[in-house]
Amino acid sequence: MKYEVVIGLETHVELDTKSKIFCSCGGHSEHVEPNDCVCPACCGMPGMLPVTNKKAVEKAIMAGLMLNCKINEYVTFDKKSYYYPDLPGAYQITQWFHPICVEGSVEVTTKDGTRTIGIKQIHMEEDAGKLVHDEWSDTTLVDYNRTSVPLIEIVTKPDFRSSAEVLAYLETLKANFRFAGISECEEGAMRCDVNISVRPQGSTELGVRTEIKNMSSFAAIEKAIEFEIARHIDANERQTEVLVQGTRRWDDDKKRTFPMRNKETAADYRYFPDPNLMPIIIDEKWVESVRASMYMTPQEKKQEYLEKGLLESEADTLIVERKVCDLLDKLVENGIDLKEGATWILTDCMSVLRRLGKTLADLKISAEKLITIINLVKENTVNRSAGKKILSAVIEKDVDPIAYYKEQGLDSQGDTGLIEQIVRKVIDNNPNAVKDYKEGKTKAVGFLFGMIMRELRGNGDPQVINQILTKYLNQ
Ligand code: ADP
Ligand code: MG
Ligand code: ZN
Repeated sequence: MKYEVVIGLETHVELDTKSKIFCSCGGHSEHVEPNDCVCPACCGMPGMLPVTNKKAVEKAIMAGLMLNCKINEYVTFDKKSYYYPDLPGAYQITQWFHPICVEGSVEVTTKDGTRTIGIKQIHMEEDAGKLVHDEWSDTTLVDYNRTSVPLIEIVTKPDFRSSAEVLAYLETLKANFRFAGISECEEGAMRCDVNISVRPQGSTELGVRTEIKNMSSFAAIEKAIEFEIARHIDANERQTEVLVQGTRRWDDDKKRTFPMRNKETAADYRYFPDPNLMPIIIDEKWVESVRASMYMTPQEKKQEYLEKGLLESEADTLIVERKVCDLLDKLVENGIDLKEGATWILTDCMSVLRRLGKTLADLKISAEKLITIINLVKENTVNRSAGKKILSAVIEKDVDPIAYYKEQGLDSQGDTGLIEQIVRKVIDNNPNAVKDYKEGKTKAVGFLFGMIMRELRGNGDPQVINQILTKYLNQ
């Protein structure tokens, strides 16, 4: 018999906010040492009350708008009760009764074409802490830095029909969320529960599903899905086992899933409205102001670059990193040609990064410094290879480009190659002055000298210029 694969995804994404979702502790990127980012509120101490982080709400709205969701007007937080050492309050604050976004959709493209995946809902919740099992033997440590970091959970309808569609969906979420500044989606900041079932081709009923919990590596997600599909089909075809609904975990060493627990229903969590948090009213005006503040998608940015004359390969590389696009746009705002700026970033910066074993994502150069370097070269204050030397020092050691070229003597004063090039250009462009000189009007030399000095923005050694100019005039 032929089987159809049915998959639904629950994806947790940590939001990039300066502070946690219900207290003023730093958000997830601020953490350095274990437990250096905790307070009585996120540690569940008695008497402390949560206050909702407005920025987190706005990032959740942005995610909802990106996924074509309806943004609910009346939104509440609820308590999900369970005990585990990584959850100091013994309940998680989440949204059960009135989630922030519902009824969305997203297109995913694989080599087999484009399909639309329904989004059931997006809800906000707080993350749990981290248990560290392997640092000391017989001891588990707990790190509460991650407790109360804001999350959104995006729940799809059971609309995926292959692992390729799941991966395409996750890649799209990651690219769009990173570009929009919703989340960096680094390893561990985006985690999925994958629900899988199979059914005879043509059937409209859903089969028994299993849920693989807490997966963050895309490669592992693909392997786990393929394993589960095969297991489900075997169970149907050859009665190898009786499928039961339940949660499983993927073991990446053994390359198979193992059962975790079978029964766990909503009732077990005793969901109830959190009386400590006010409902949030999200009116149309608020939604529209969030929409207006949103940046374009990577695809739209690519289109813009193509229309302005960049190559597809250049645009594709740039849109992987929003901050690189921002850097390039800053160069253009400051009068640098788009193509020229793109070359400085994609060729010159890249070659420095490559030498350091880094990628474009690691590029940390201020627009001001890059503009200074590009202009130093453009104005012939330094030649191009000196420009690259300065760039390298700025990327590696964040030196000041002006102070650096002066200190290293990289200016064009005695750069005979550059001076020669400019002398030839000025002679070619001023045949009349050359004729005057040949007819004995020595004043013409002064005029040509002035033109050369202007091209060099005053950065040429007058003796060297005179020497080279005389040589060319007497040829
Ligand atoms: P629960 O409340 O038990 O978590 P939901 O209806 O919220 O169940 O579904 C959770 C996820 O499982 C959703 O992404 C949904 O699309 C998916 N799902 C539900 N039933 C199936 C099924 N039979 N096969 C595959 N995925 C399913
Ligand atoms: Mg679930
Ligand atoms: Zn706190």
